[in-house]
Parts: sequence; structure tokens; C-alpha cells
Amino acid sequence: MIPVRKFDAIVVGAGGSGMRAALELARANLKVAVLSKVFPTRSHTVAAQGGIAAPLANSGEDNWHWHMYDTVKGSDYLGDQDAIEYMCRRAVEVVVELEHMGMPFDRLESGRIYQRPFGGHTQNYGSPKMAMRSCAAADRTGHAMLHTLYQQNVRSNTQFFIEWMALDLIRDPQDGAVVGVTALEMETGELMIFQAKTVLLATGGAGRIFWATTNAFINTGDGLGMAARAGLPLEDMEFWQFHPTGVAGAGVLITEGVRGEGGYLLNKNGERFMERYAPNAKDLASRDVVSRAMTTEIKEGRGCGEHADHVLLKLDHLGPEVINLRLPGIREIAIKFANADPVRDPIPVVPTVHYQMGGIPANYMGQVVIPEGNSKEAILPGMYAVGECACVSVHGANRLGTNSLLDLVVFGKSSGEQMLKDMATMPRPHRNLPKDAGEATRSRMARLDNAKSGERVADVLNDLRRAMQAHCGVFRFPEDLIAGVSKIKAIAERAARTFIQDKSKVFNTARVEAMELENLVETAMATIVSAEARKESRGAQARADHPDRDDKNWMKHTLWYKEGNRLDYKPVHLKPLTVETMEPKVRTY
Ligand SMILES: Cc1cc2nc3c(=O)[nH]c(=O)nc-3n(C[C@H](O)[C@H](O)[C@H](O)COP(=O)(O)OP(=O)(O)OC[C@H]3O[C@@H](n4cnc5c(N)ncnc54)[C@H](O)[C@@H]3O)c2cc1C
Repeated sequence: MIPVRKFDAIVVGAGGSGMRAALELARANLKVAVLSKVFPTRSHTVAAQGGIAAPLANSGEDNWHWHMYDTVKGSDYLGDQDAIEYMCRRAVEVVVELEHMGMPFDRLESGRIYQRPFGGHTQNYGSPKMAMRSCAAADRTGHAMLHTLYQQNVRSNTQFFIEWMALDLIRDPQDGAVVGVTALEMETGELMIFQAKTVLLATGGAGRIFWATTNAFINTGDGLGMAARAGLPLEDMEFWQFHPTGVAGAGVLITEGVRGEGGYLLNKNGERFMERYAPNAKDLASRDVVSRAMTTEIKEGRGCGEHADHVLLKLDHLGPEVINLRLPGIREIAIKFANADPVRDPIPVVPTVHYQMGGIPANYMGQVVIPEGNSKEAILPGMYAVGECACVSVHGANRLGTNSLLDLVVFGKSSGEQMLKDMATMPRPHRNLPKDAGEATRSRMARLDNAKSGERVADVLNDLRRAMQAHCGVFRFPEDLIAGVSKIKAIAERAARTFIQDKSKVFNTARVEAMELENLVETAMATIVSAEARKESRGAQARADHPDRDDKNWMKHTLWYKEGNRLDYKPVHLKPLTVETMEPKVRTY
């Protein structure tokens, strides 16, 4: 028997989204367990640099309507407009709350929160004038936010299970409700069932399916794998954001805040090429637009360096005072990873995989919604998803910078509120666990433990990441996508035959990596199958054979199912909560 522990709520993930949700629950005196593969303040939110969006209007006019317009346009009209309105309307509230919790934002002379411009955020419904909307703590905003949320959770008695890896969801066979998760304690190698009335997945992104990424080693799409194995669909997985400025050769992020502060991109001729691609917003156009422009410059032979394989980010004209005050972390990263001190030298940069717009389908209260009967969005009892692993969908086909940290706290809070409401209507005792609870996990572990030979995890993983990079990049070609689907299918078969030499139990990282690989495979398969099927270009999906957006046929969300590797679609929510629909237009910056 796998031992069982009972809680009111389980939160899988201690990043910004999981901790904001847990705080809401713990403050209501519920018994909350937060599971994390790493110490909470090492979650990937810690790496967020540039800021969190909120129309505080501290340095110029701004309001939530403009923010909503920019987000809908940024999403290339695939974002759900009810959810986008909800997020933009609550932005000021959640940022002020963070400030009151003690988050150390930078300050203006007036004492108000410092704000900087960011790509795609404009004034007055897309005018050439940029909005100052990104609230920043130097270039370490995620670090400041994560520590603040952790401290508040400790104060509210949230129970953390650190270095525990959740493995599978447990569903009630009667109605499919989620009643718990199985998890592995890395220190001992033992399995445990965490039973709960509500389960929230907040497992973050999965950028490790690509070769070059700004994402940490722990971003392996575990929540996506858990959902897919439990029979749930994954939404809009074809849309992956390439951040324009990863350090060439290293992938480490250089925040868009650099361009917000006045930095700009140059090609080998010293030309400020973004003026040609986005005459108004220039270097602060939306990320998909800038990444494509950079890739085109490099492809057409105007790249820099010995191999003409990158462009340059110039910021020395900002002067050492601004660089040291507003971008100290960037200076350190550039010196360490590019051997370039930005006070004097430009930084070599290339577009790098950064963020997944897709994920587990959820509404703006964090409830997971799936097709059932006549509904495309039936609420799945007991299950919630939030943060980068969820698809709400506020980012649609392309996310604007600083809207993710906002999404974490808005939907972290709303999902906590919804879980409280739902639990108030549930019977006091927990539902019974199904008889075979944990069996699926046990058999996956047993296969790995009993395998005497097979594929090395690292080999399969490297092949997967290389294949995704080559077949599903900034520009997508039909024959590459078709070949990519076959390659990922073959890799998935190899992943089912992995073997680990070390069978020991205590801190066996080989076992953890093997389990992570299974999640990466589900994520990659969902991505490439969805990308191959979508015959249009929209946001982050740029197809050479279908260069235009096709609203008539493709204004819809993709749903990918593991079973049968099949696809379904559902409509985009074009109706906001209180304002008029923002009608699709040609997207220019
Ligand atoms: C370098 C970088 C800079 C960025 N800068 C910005 C920015 O300035 N502004 C902005 O808005 N966005 C930014 N982003 C995006 C943003 O930081 C992320 O989208 C966001 O932090 C993700 O938060 P999360 O709560 O969803 O997940 P994460 O912070 O990634 O946390 C995931 C959590 O899940 C846990 N977990 C995962 N799998 C399991 C499992 N199986 N069992 C148990 N626990 C598990 C992990 O341990 C971790 O605690 C940036 C991203 C990167 C990579």
C-alpha cells in the first residue's frame, strides 16, 4: 500500500502562481500542502527580470482598457477576451497587494512604484506612444516577488513539501473528479498519495523541450504530462514564444527591460533594423515580431560575428549610472556569459525559447475546463490550473512581456478564491480514493526499476530537444513539421524503453530525470502535432506555406489529446465581460 496523507487542498508548484493561490487558501485556515521539486524560492519565477504589468499610471497616463487592447492585439486575437478583461481589471489591485506584503519595488522620486515601458504596451489603443506599465524591482522582479510570497506563506502556515515530485493525478472513476496526486519524495525514493478535496497544478513552463531556452532544468512540463496521462486535453500547445534577446550561445535571458530603458538592436552594418520591420514601436514591438525580424536579418546574411549568427544589443549609451541602477543583473550576465561589459560593448543576442502560451485548459477562476457532452468547456470537479502550465487563455498566440507575472498573481488569487468557494459546498469528509489509486504510478516506476537494459535517458532527451529546435522553430516549414511529427513519435517509443543503471533510492536524480522525460515527451508531441495541423500564421506560429492569419478557418483554440494523438478545437471567447469586443485587425507595430 502506498501511504496516504490528507489535506483540504494540494498545490503542485511553489512558483509565483502556486504560492499566490496557496496564500489565499492558508489565510482561510485550510490545510494546504504545497509540493515542489526545489526549494520554493528557487522556482523559476525567481528568474523573471523585467517586471509585472499594471496600469498604475505612475509615470504617464494609463488605464485597464488600453492594457486590455494591447493584450488582445498581442495575442493576435486568439486570447479569450473575458479572461483578458478580468486580468487587466484586477492588475492594479494585485500589484498594490504585493507592495503591501512588502515586495521591494523600485521607486520614483515621488515614492510611487517605478514603471518602465515594455514591448507591445502602448497608450491610447495602440498609438505610437509607449505606456510606462511594467512595475519593476531593478531587473530582479521575479526574485523580489517570489521571496515576498514565500514569506507570506510561511507566516500563514502553508505546509511545504520540498523536493517532492508529483507524478500522476488520481481521478474518481464515477465522475472523473480529481481527488489527489501521487508523489515521489526525492530524499527517500518513497511514494506517497496526497489526497485532497481540490488539486491545483502550478508546475510552470516546459521550455526544456527545445535545445536553446531561457528555461531552467526543472521546467519539464510535469503538470502537462500529468494532465495528458489522466486523459485531459492540452490547449494551444503550438504557440511557444521565442524571446528576442537570449545571450548568443548560452540562451540566458537579457530582459526586454533593456530595450524598455532605451537599448536597441543592430545588424552587422550597424543598422537599427527594427525601424524597417516596426516603424512605430521599433525595438519595443511585440516579441514574435522582433524575433522574426532578427531571424530574417541573420538568414539574409546581416548577422554579426565570425559565423554571422547573431545580432547585437547596444546599451552603452544609457551610461553606467542607469545600467548599474536599473539593469545590474544584466550587466553581470553579459560579463559572465558573453564576455561583454554592456557599459562599453554590445551584447550578442539571438531569439531563444522562453514561454509557452498553451497549457491545461482553465477558465479565469482557475477551474480546469474540458469537452464533455454538448459542452466544450465543462468544469472538471476538484481540479484547477494556474500560471505558465495553464491556458486561460490570456496570452493567445503571443504573450506580451510582464503579463506573465501578472497572470500568476491575478489567477493565483482567483483560483484560491474559487477553491475556497467550491470546498465550502463539498461534504466535510473527503471522497473515497479509487481502489487502484496510485497503480499507474507504481507500474511506471516498476518498469523503470526492472529494466535491465534500454535507452539512456540523456540520449533520448537530447534527440528530443534537437528535433524540436530543428522542426518547430521561429519559422515553420510544412515538410519540417511533417518530418518532425514522425521523429517525435519515434522518440516517444524510445522514451518508453528507457533504463537507469542506478536503482538506488536516496536522492536518485537519474530516476527523477527519467520521470521528467516522460512529461517532456507529452509536451513535445502536443506541440508539434498541434503546430503541423494549424495551417496559418498567427502570433508565435509563423508558417512559410501559410504566411497570413486566417480568422475564417483558424480563429479557434486547439485541444490535443494523448489518447490517439488526436486533435479537437473550441471557439475563442470573443465577448469580454463588460466592454465591446475588440475586433480582429491586421497586427502592425
Ligand atoms: C529568464 C526569464 C525571465 C522572465 N521575466 C519575466 C518578466 O520580467 N515578467 C513576466 O511577466 N514574466 C517573465 N517571465 C515569465 C515568468 O517568469 C514565468 O512564466 C512564471 O514565473 C512562471 O511561474 P509559475 O508559477 O507558473 O511557475 P514556476 O515559477 O516555474 O514554478 C513551477 C513550480 O512547480 C514546481 N514543480 C514542477 N513540476 C513539479 C512536480 N512534478 N512536482 C512538484 N513540483 C513541481 C517547481 O518546483 C516550481 O516550484 C520570465 C521567464 C524567464 C524564463
